[in-house]
Amino acid sequence: MSPSSSKTSLKTRERLSEVRYEIRGELARRARELEAQGRSLIKLNIGNPGAFGFRAPAHLQRAIVDGIDQTDPYTHQQGLPAAREAVAAHYKARGTPNATPERVFLGNGVSELIDLSLRALLNPGDEVLLPSPDYPLWSAATILNDGRPVYYRCLPENGFLPDPDEIEALVSSRTRALVLINPNNPTGANYPRELIERIVAIAARHNLLLLCDEIYDSILYDGAVFQPVAPLAGEVPCLSFGGLSKVHRACGWRVGWAVLSGDPLAIGEFHHAMDLLGALRLCANVPGQFAVEAALHGDNTIDALCAPGGRLYEARRAVVESVAASRHLELVAPAGALYAFPAVTGAALEGGFDDHRFALELLETENVLVVPGSSFNVPYRNHFRVTLLPQPDELREVFRRIERVLDRRVGR
Ligand code: PLP
Repeated sequence: MSPSSSKTSLKTRERLSEVRYEIRGELARRARELEAQGRSLIKLNIGNPGAFGFRAPAHLQRAIVDGIDQTDPYTHQQGLPAAREAVAAHYKARGTPNATPERVFLGNGVSELIDLSLRALLNPGDEVLLPSPDYPLWSAATILNDGRPVYYRCLPENGFLPDPDEIEALVSSRTRALVLINPNNPTGANYPRELIERIVAIAARHNLLLLCDEIYDSILYDGAVFQPVAPLAGEVPCLSFGGLSKVHRACGWRVGWAVLSGDPLAIGEFHHAMDLLGALRLCANVPGQFAVEAALHGDNTIDALCAPGGRLYEARRAVVESVAASRHLELVAPAGALYAFPAVTGAALEGGFDDHRFALELLETENVLVVPGSSFNVPYRNHFRVTLLPQPDELREVFRRIERVLDRRVGR
C-alpha cells in the first residue's frame, strides 16, 4: 500500500451538512472564476457598502486614528468602557429599560454576537423561532449550537410581515427564543408597533428570549419609522443587536454590539454565560471599538443617503421602477435595509422555475450575480435578492439584463 492510499479524509462536524450560506457560496465561487477569465461582473450578492464606494464617516475614521496608541492591550471581554457607555446611553435614549454599560457586549460584528448568544442559550434539541426568509447566519448558528430552527412565515402577500397567531402556534415546550430581524434582510420589511407588541406578548406568555437583530435600524425609506423591540418588552428578556457595519458603512472594522434588557432575575444566568463566552475569546477587535462613541454621539450621516436625492433612496427607486416596468417581476417595495427581494411571476414560471438555475444563467449569460431566494430558508423558488448599494443607473442596467433572461425563457 502506498503511503497516500492509507490516508483518509479529515472528518468534520456532521451538522455542517445542514448549514448553508449561499451569499458567499457556489455562485460567488463561479463569479470569481469568471473574473479570473477577464469577465467584468456586477455583483449584488453581499451587503458590503465599502465595495460600492461608500466610506465610513470621516469622524469615525479619525476616532480610530486618534486612539490607535491606546489600542494595543486587550479590553474587558464585554468591551471598552467608553464604547459600552456610548451604546448604553444610545439605547437608554430610545427607551430600552435599564440600559447600563454592564448590559452591553461589544463583539467582532453582530455575526460573532449572534453565535455567542445562541451558544449561551441552547441545549441540544432546543428550538428557536426564526423568520422565513431569514438572514441565514441565524439558521446556521442555531444548528451549529445544537438547536433546531422552527420557521414562522413572512409571506409576500402579507408585505413580508409575520403573523403572530402562526408564531404562537409554533411554540413548543422546547422553544427557547424568538428571533426578529427588523428592518428585515432580505425583504426590507419594517415591522409596525402593534405587530411588535403582539410578538412581545407571545414571548412573555411562553418565557422566550427575544433576539432582536436591528442592525439596519436607521436605514429607512419614504417615512418608515423604526420601532425597537426592547422599549416595548419591559421585563421580557431581550437582546438587541446593532453595529457599525451597515448604518455607519464600516463592515470591515468588525464592530457590533448587543444590549441585554429585561427582568434582572430572568436574565442573570444568561448574562453570566455571555460574559464567560466573551472571556473565552478574550475581547473584540480594539481599534474598531474606538469608533463606537464617535458613531453614536457624532453627526447623523445615514438619513441623507435614505432621503429623496440620496444614493440609497435613488437606488431603491431604480429597483422599484424597474420592477414596475417588468413583464415578469413583482416586488414588495422595501421600507428599510439594503436589499430588494423581487419575485418572478407569470409565464416565466411555466415549465418549472428554479431560482438557482436562473441565478446561474444570469451570471453566465449577463454577468450579474444575485442570491437565489431559497438561500434564505424559504420553501418557494421564485425569488432573488439584490443589494441596493450600487449606483442607481447600474441597478437599472441589472434589471434590463434580468428582463432579457426572463424574456428568453418565455420565448419573446
Ligand atoms: N444581521 C443581519 C440581518 C445582517 O444582514 C448582517 C450582515 O449582513 C449581520 C447580522 C452581520 O453583520 P456584522 O457581522 O457585519 O455586524
